[in-house]
Amino acid sequence: SEGAVKAPALPRYIRVNTLKTNAENVIDYFKRQGYAYLGRASSLQELGRLSGKQFLMDLHLPDILVFPPRTDFHKNYLYTAGHIILQDKASSLPAFLLDPTSGSHVIDACAAPGNKTSHLAALLKNKGKIFAFDMDTKRLATMGTLLLRAGVTCHQLANEDFLKVEPSDPKYSCVQHILLDPSCSGSGIVDRLNDLTDDDGSSSAERLQALASFQRKVLSHALRFPAVEHLVYSTCSVHQEENEDVVRHTLLENNAFRLVNALPSWPQRGLPVFPRAKCCLRASPTETLTNGFFVALFERKKGGEELLA
Ligand code: SAM
Repeated sequence: SEGAVKAPALPRYIRVNTLKTNAENVIDYFKRQGYAYLGRASSLQELGRLSGKQFLMDLHLPDILVFPPRTDFHKNYLYTAGHIILQDKASSLPAFLLDPTSGSHVIDACAAPGNKTSHLAALLKNKGKIFAFDMDTKRLATMGTLLLRAGVTCHQLANEDFLKVEPSDPKYSCVQHILLDPSCSGSGIVDRLNDLTDDDGSSSAERLQALASFQRKVLSHALRFPAVEHLVYSTCSVHQEENEDVVRHTLLENNAFRLVNALPSWPQRGLPVFPRAKCCLRASPTETLTNGFFVALFERKKGGEELLA
């Protein structure tokens, strides 16, 4: 809308789908298409300076290639063949941080349209199992197409309310990893940042409270799965209410888990509103050249530790 401050154009990120190819093949392909590969970036500033047909390997995350803003890959063969996934760098953080070992069992609690599910499958090398849930039938249909194109075969899709999934069901007795990326305000998405002036303050405060209460509920539900060792909570929101506040509330009520200091080389951290909030990651157009994003990595305390806490 007129008068709104335009967020800077972000670099374009792609994730190499290692279920179908590898970074070397993708780099060669782009070189043959006339792109100039500049190697691995050594600073964020370098990512921001890309222009024309240049591209770089990302400095924080493996298998992420970085192109100038507005590069369009929708018609590119590598995209239509599922060799690359069009995904913002920040939204590649959750699966990367969860880092499930190949062969393990994983829950993707709010999964559609499935970019993070396909990333999890790549890390699992399609071995093991991903139980993926979503309530939205239309988004699940899109997800089916996306996972097929990406060559994902280790998943079980269910059109279910995750809050109704029973943690004690023997089916989930080996689930050690959970990715929880619940519905949020979406306030970190750059196209929407430009529309923020349209928000009505009071109704958005109510909406935030409703979202935060859902997020707290779904997070504490996820932590009830008996074998879970690691859980990643993420949102594409910039609001403390949906991020640090949800994490703080959960840690206060659940003494069996603690935060892991995730990816120490990542420059932007959780707002320091409680001890160890800096273990969490934040992302933003200005500081990390991505959409606004939040990630927290929980880990189960080892035997006896919770008594000492
Ligand atoms: N993780 C997805 C990805 O990377 O493509 C994006 C997930 S989106 C932020 C949140 C999703 O949660 C929506 O698709 C929504 O339908 C789903 N959702 C909301 N409430 C749910 C619930 N109670 N159980 C399962 N899914 C739910």
